[in-house]
Amino acid sequence: MEMLDKELFDKVVKIAQSRGFVFNASSIYGGLRSSYDYGPLGSLLKQNISSIWWKSLRNVEADIYPVDTAIIQSSEVWKSSGHLNEFTDPMVECKNCNKRFRSDSDEVIECCENQEFTDPKQFNLMFETYSGPVKNENSQVFLRPETAQGIFINFENVLRTMRAKIPFGIANIGKSFRNEITPGQFIFRTREFEQMEIEFFCNESEEDKWMDYWIKERMEWYQSIGIDKKQLRLREHDESELAHYAKKTVDIEYLYPWGWGELEGIANRGSYDLHAHQESSGKDLTYFDSLDDKKYLPSVIEPAGGLTRTLFALLLSVYEEEKLENDETRTLFKFNFDIAPIQIGILPLSKKDDLIKVSEQINKTLNQNYRTEVDITQSIGKRYRRQDEIGTPYCITVDFDSLEDNCITVRNRDTMKQDRISIEKVSEYFEKL
Ligand code: ATP
Repeated sequence: MEMLDKELFDKVVKIAQSRGFVFNASSIYGGLRSSYDYGPLGSLLKQNISSIWWKSLRNVEADIYPVDTAIIQSSEVWKSSGHLNEFTDPMVECKNCNKRFRSDSDEVIECCENQEFTDPKQFNLMFETYSGPVKNENSQVFLRPETAQGIFINFENVLRTMRAKIPFGIANIGKSFRNEITPGQFIFRTREFEQMEIEFFCNESEEDKWMDYWIKERMEWYQSIGIDKKQLRLREHDESELAHYAKKTVDIEYLYPWGWGELEGIANRGSYDLHAHQESSGKDLTYFDSLDDKKYLPSVIEPAGGLTRTLFALLLSVYEEEKLENDETRTLFKFNFDIAPIQIGILPLSKKDDLIKVSEQINKTLNQNYRTEVDITQSIGKRYRRQDEIGTPYCITVDFDSLEDNCITVRNRDTMKQDRISIEKVSEYFEKL
């Protein structure tokens, strides 16, 4: 990482941790490497990203059905999907200090003075555990490494119960687990993370059309949540990089402080998965196309994104510093109004009961429709700084004049312009935005 970029990384991570977006997991016990808890603001931000994702699926030119599938499935699922054999990364171990590394990454490996590595071995990334009171081969299960398989194994269930017609999609958001050899870069690569995946089923003759559709759609979506277009690019996998199930894959990459990194992979999985599950389960997973009176296994286009990775890219992308006239620096997360964890901060000028009471009343009016917060601690200057830092688009100040004229001041985070408006019109003011 260049110095400047390293600085950006450090600053964003520091604010994320100190302001309640992300905490180190098990921090009171010294933390657990690569595990993070999302605090009040991070958890709101995660909810907002995921609800904007669900909402965007309403605009798709075909039906998209939501599912919410189990993390623990029959081990047969992972046998059939190929994960048991193929979901591996090459790993080397230093013969001297026994540290282990992924051997296919571009990063320079440095461990000890006498580093000497074994030949690469394939390391399976699935977490293993046991289901039920008996620990043996038969009770062994895996934590899902992707949400996608939960969709494939429910293809027939959704088809039948929803009377779905091709083309259509099934979407799933949730936790996935990978025992990454080298997790790191804060929440970019963790062992427990959240994915947002769509499997889009279509006729083979329309694969390319839908692949292009989803690439365009998903690129636009990242911009719509506030990620700068200049920091996004598409990269197609070459033959050697393609996953075992993929005919073609195009990644959407974000320019992280350490370089380009994947945000989402859009893959043409063909009928690989349905075919594999049909073979292994013996269940008919074909689709009957009444238009041309044919039964077939549909092709699948899969936009597979990371929710937690997107959250990090968003924080990096909207972080800004502004020099003020008095030479102080203002630090901001310039979140869109829709995505900001707190949309409106309500700040009584002092801790006087009357001002707090008016603030609480305004809060009551606004918090049914907006994410609001009444902030009464510390000086008004410090509170403004905090609201800027956590990316609150609007702050309302209740001052002593408010008690006389029933008016309040609304300050815009980005322009710092202030409007004096009547308390009665406060809802109307935000509705009009
Ligand atoms: P990478 O090459 O970075 O390991 P991948 O190609 O294995 O990622 P996919 O299997 O395509 O990832 O998973 C889809 C999405 O899930 C990724 O684009 C990413 O956003 C997210 N993701 C995958 N692994 C992790 C992880 N360990 N931590 C956080 N997010 C992840």
